[in-house]
Amino acid sequence: MPPEERLNRKNAFDASLVMGVEHFNRSTGRDRHRASLLKDLVDPQTGLIKKDLVRHRTCPICRDNNSNPLFVKDGFEHGRCPQCGLIYVNPVLRDDLVLEHYQDEASWVEVLESGPQVEMDRLKYAYGLDIARPYLHGTKVLDLGAGTGLFVRLASANGFETTALELHKENARRLSADGFRVVTQPLDQANLPEDHFDLVTLWEVLEHIVDPNILLNEIHRILKPKGVLLILVPNVEALVTRILHEKSGTFGGHSHVSFFNRRTLGRLLSETGFTMVEQETLITELGTINNYLSFEEPYLGRAPTVLDVLTPELIHEKLIGSKLLMLVTKN
Ligand SMILES: [Zn+2]
Repeated sequence: MPPEERLNRKNAFDASLVMGVEHFNRSTGRDRHRASLLKDLVDPQTGLIKKDLVRHRTCPICRDNNSNPLFVKDGFEHGRCPQCGLIYVNPVLRDDLVLEHYQDEASWVEVLESGPQVEMDRLKYAYGLDIARPYLHGTKVLDLGAGTGLFVRLASANGFETTALELHKENARRLSADGFRVVTQPLDQANLPEDHFDLVTLWEVLEHIVDPNILLNEIHRILKPKGVLLILVPNVEALVTRILHEKSGTFGGHSHVSFFNRRTLGRLLSETGFTMVEQETLITELGTINNYLSFEEPYLGRAPTVLDVLTPELIHEKLIGSKLLMLVTKN
C-alpha cells in the first residue's frame, strides 16, 4: 500500500481527527467506563490493591526480579525493568479474579458496541487485514480476544475461515449462535492443532497478558510455518503517553499489565521465534494532546490545535502514535 494511502486510511479511523476526542469519548461511553473502575480493591490504609487479591511476578521479558517504581494508578504499582526497559504492573490481580472479570464484564462491552466505536474499529480491522494480506498463504484465521466479533465477522465476509477465542460468556454465546467457531478457554488450555493457522490476530490483547511468553509460544506452535501474527498494543513511547504519564488512559492495572515499545515487543517476538515484517503506529490522539497542553481535561476537553507542527504524518513517521502495530512471521 503506498505511504499516502496508508496515512489516509489511518486518519479515517483516528477518532480525535474524525469526530473529536470529547464527542468520541462521550458517545462511546468511555467517560462512564473510566468512572467505573474497581475501586473497592484498594486498601484505604496503603492506597494499594489489597494484598490477598494480588500475586507477584518477574519481568515477563528478561525475568529480572527488580523494577524501578514509576507511579501508582488505581492502586496498581507501575515500574520499569532496569534490564530490558519494559514497563509493567507488579503485583497483578490474581488469575482467578482476572478470568472472572473477563468472563462477565459489561461496561467495556457497551463501549465496543457503541456506534462510533464500531465505525472506527471496522475501518481499523479492514486496514489490518489489507496490511497482512500480502504475507498470507492461506485463509485460516484465529482472532484471540475476539470481543463482540467485529473482526471475525469482517474476515469471514472477506473469504477467511475464522475461529474466535473469547472468554466473555455472553460475547462467546452470541458469536456461537451466529454460526462462528468459538473457543472459550484461555489459549494455553485450548489444545488447538499444531501448524494450523495462516493468521493469528491479537487486537489490543497482549497488554492484558501477565505472561506473554507463554501466549506467544503457543501461538508459534499453532501457526503454520511462515504463518503471520498481527499484534496491536498501546505504544508506551507514544507522544500522548509521554506527555500524560499516569494520566494516560493506557495505564490502568486492573486490565493493562504490560506496556511495550518497539524494542521490548521486538525482543519478545524475536526470542519466541518470529521475524518482523511490518511495524507502524496507528491513532495520533492529537485531540487528547491538544487538550492537555491547553490545561483542559485530556479526554473530555474541546481545545483547538495548539501546535501546528504536530501532524498525523509527523507522528506516524516518528512512530509515536498511540498504538503500535507489528506484523511478524513464524520462523
Ligand atoms: Zn526486563
